[in-house]
Amino acid sequence: MEFSLIDRIRKLTAQGRDDVRLGIGDDAALLAVPTGQELAAAIDTMVEGVHFPSGTAAADIGWKALAVNLSDLAAMGATPAWALLALSLPNADAVFIDGLATGFAQLAQHYRLALVGGDTTRGALTISVAVHGFVPPGKALTRAGARVGDTVLVTGTLGDAAGGLELIQRKHGRDDEQTAYLVERLNRPMPRVAAGLALRERASACIDVSDGLLADLGHICTSSRVGAEIETALLPRSPALLDLFGDAASCEFALAGGDDYELCFTVPPQQVAAVQADLARLGCSATCIGRIVEGKGIQILDREGRPLAPGRQGWDHFSA
Ligand code: ADP
Ligand code: MG
Repeated sequence: MEFSLIDRIRKLTAQGRDDVRLGIGDDAALLAVPTGQELAAAIDTMVEGVHFPSGTAAADIGWKALAVNLSDLAAMGATPAWALLALSLPNADAVFIDGLATGFAQLAQHYRLALVGGDTTRGALTISVAVHGFVPPGKALTRAGARVGDTVLVTGTLGDAAGGLELIQRKHGRDDEQTAYLVERLNRPMPRVAAGLALRERASACIDVSDGLLADLGHICTSSRVGAEIETALLPRSPALLDLFGDAASCEFALAGGDDYELCFTVPPQQVAAVQADLARLGCSATCIGRIVEGKGIQILDREGRPLAPGRQGWDHFSA
């Protein structure tokens, strides 16, 4: 890429960290992992039209491409440090790249995360971000430790991003605060990094909700060789989602909608109150939504405690 553009990206994203011995500008970055820490590494790619709607603002794309990766570090209980950014762009549009770097930098600054390198090519609009973080040896949260009897919790609210996407796609979007809130939750997810760190000593298993609660809790179940029961009445939903979509549709969004970037985790029942207090101090709510049981798969219980088949109501029936 043109040097001036890379230089702009570098200026926007430099954080002055001493563990970056050599950042953007050479053939590779040189990075110093703090002594005695493990390195957590993750990468995620976003393709226009697949992972974000065409027409999404450049700054939102930059923010989200980093946010989804920080969410992976959060789910491991890792402290973010560095990132690499690979961009494929249909044309070298300076305004677009500037917007993208600005959105990226806004979130990066929040965590003092340094962008230390990347790559830029011509092609369909695609953004890959790789992130690196630190975790004390053996302390990372994984998907594998859930035990029968553990309580299943989730941070924040579920389904908002799916609601926001529905509003954009169906052009139901009204010019009101609730619509703006849901679209913001889609475009500017705030990764639960502090919550992930707080869960490190307490959660038996953890995952970030990127593909929908059922899919992601399903991964905890598979990795931990257990099943789970979820009560729909307990699913935390925002007032905006409930107001715009009602109980049934918001429930379906909360179960199956993607892009929430909340944390779903398990803790022994006797630790639930302490975990909730820890997270509350960070301004993060955590709601009990069910429990880990023997067997495999996820059983969804309706308001009367009756098992419900997932996907019973199709996405097509929803309207605002
Ligand atoms: P090379 O051919 O050695 O890979 P490049 O011209 O691709 O060099 O990149 C020059 C420098 O700019 C490298 O340090 C690289 O890490 C950085 N860089 C290139 N594209 C980006 C980008 N999109 N974001 C951050 N750094 C980038
Ligand atoms: Mg290169």
